[in-house]
Amino acid sequence: MNALAIQPEIAVAAIPDDERVWVPQAPDVWFRPLLLNTVSGGWCNLLRVRKSGVLSRHRHPMAVVGYVIRGKWFYREHNWVANEGSFVYEPPGEIHTLEVPADCPEMITFFNIQGAMIYLDGDGNQTGYEDVWTKIEMCAKHYETVGLGADYVKQFIR
Ligand code: FE
Repeated sequence: MNALAIQPEIAVAAIPDDERVWVPQAPDVWFRPLLLNTVSGGWCNLLRVRKSGVLSRHRHPMAVVGYVIRGKWFYREHNWVANEGSFVYEPPGEIHTLEVPADCPEMITFFNIQGAMIYLDGDGNQTGYEDVWTKIEMCAKHYETVGLGADYVKQFIR
């Protein structure tokens, strides 16, 4: 692509037909990349969590917005439930642990995550982080392993 040209748009079926497009994140947790934004630093993805799956405790240094496409989930730190069709805003500084209730077999939520996710232990010490670059690396490794090829991730990178 010409470096002086505007970047191409992205228009894809958000929920993929090919199961291999889902990238494993943790036991019973996957993400499906939609936009990996190396300019502003952040990403859009679908998060899929099946029963008993937990997204580890983390802090957001920047804002996150989400829309629940299927199922429901909650944060251990809050007393509300995000149901199918819910919109969620997570302010900068928010710390939480995502879990799917026992009566829900699967949830899928669209998240637009700015900046990074800082993973924390129970005492608030950092145990890891994710940003657009670690996401790209995870995707490339997974797509190579499942036979789509590492370059498959490139269609989502801007
Ligand atoms: Fe979060």
